[in-house]
Amino acid sequence: TVSRLRPFASTIFAEMTELAVRHGAINLGQGFPDVDGPPAMLEIARRAITEGVNQYPPGSGMPVLREAIAADRAARYGLHHDPESEVLVTVGATEAISAAILGLVEPGEEVLLTEPYYDSYAASVALAGATRRTVPLTRSGNGFVLDVDALRAAVTDRTRMLVVNSPHNPTGTVYDREALTALAELACERELLVLSDEVYEHLVFDGRTHIPLASLPGMAERTITVSSAAKTFNVTGWKIGWAMGPRELIDGVRAAKQFMTFVGGAPFQPAVAHALTHEQEWIASMRADLERKRTFLSHALSEAGLKVFDSAGTYFVCADLTPLGRTDAVAFCRELPGRIGVAAVPVSVFVDDTASWNRLVRFAFCKRDEVLTEAVARLNGLQ
Ligand code: PMP
Ligand code: GLN
Repeated sequence: TVSRLRPFASTIFAEMTELAVRHGAINLGQGFPDVDGPPAMLEIARRAITEGVNQYPPGSGMPVLREAIAADRAARYGLHHDPESEVLVTVGATEAISAAILGLVEPGEEVLLTEPYYDSYAASVALAGATRRTVPLTRSGNGFVLDVDALRAAVTDRTRMLVVNSPHNPTGTVYDREALTALAELACERELLVLSDEVYEHLVFDGRTHIPLASLPGMAERTITVSSAAKTFNVTGWKIGWAMGPRELIDGVRAAKQFMTFVGGAPFQPAVAHALTHEQEWIASMRADLERKRTFLSHALSEAGLKVFDSAGTYFVCADLTPLGRTDAVAFCRELPGRIGVAAVPVSVFVDDTASWNRLVRFAFCKRDEVLTEAVARLNGLQ
């Protein structure tokens, strides 16, 4: 393994899922739902396979999908992208993220992340030979907030890109308009490119609405927005994601993407296109279910003795182990599957400053009610 990838030899999700399988534990570690997406979408994919949609799709993605992505974004947010040149279908959001960094950041330039950060950001920055700088989210009340002044202080002459993720994995934080506006002002002032990872755009709770970063003043021209069918339609294994942004930026993303995978997921593309156009009600009901599951698991974790942070979106809730007398979340998560039959992920794997985050654990609540109920029964064995 080359030196720049040595720190990324294995991902925590693989390790915890392997432990969960070995111990027959309930996997609240890796974030994936355990029910299928809309039946009509699944049927279209099945039919696409039997009807021969099995060869290379166009390099930017099938027109029907690019048009559906652009129409959906226009309808929900009033943001307009030319489906020909400003929408790129990728192999999951993961590829969109890697390709955006590889295609738009020079080796030696800096990429600014907020920590905790989704693990693929750091690996993608390393792949590009760029340098990452991280600024922590700040605790506020029962949750976390963005410290835009700290971000401003971390920008240097070499900073090329800022990566933003709201709704935020792993904390479930949803940045409010004020924070996003301050962030947008910073990006404009320092002429930064912004990679906005909005894969959880539909998964916001308690009456919140998602604010796309590209909708703020000055941002459309500098933002690459990434989203994915994975979290919107319960198909994490299909790996259909997309990047949207101005043509010059998407050109850079495409230049990298075409030599990573060229294309992917032909029979899934018309299925996702159909779902984007026809399954808004399914999404609303899935979101309502998730909100209820969030409340259920958060309450249960509190009852089990953990200090639970507010989750306003995503699949995840974080909790502090200190009240249990534990100070090392990595050790805790390694023993949990064998001890009580539940798997979770230590938040420290999403940060550089592990000492500051070593008591926090992330739990996924995107599971069937009976699975969550059983997980909660097992978690009650913690005390
Ligand atoms: N970004 C974030 C914040 C995520 O949580 C995930 C998936 N867990 C991804 C990107 C990757 O999405 P995909 O599965 O579509 O590659
Ligand atoms: N995005 C999911 C999570 O955060 C899974 C990611 C993965 O398995 N690489 O749990």
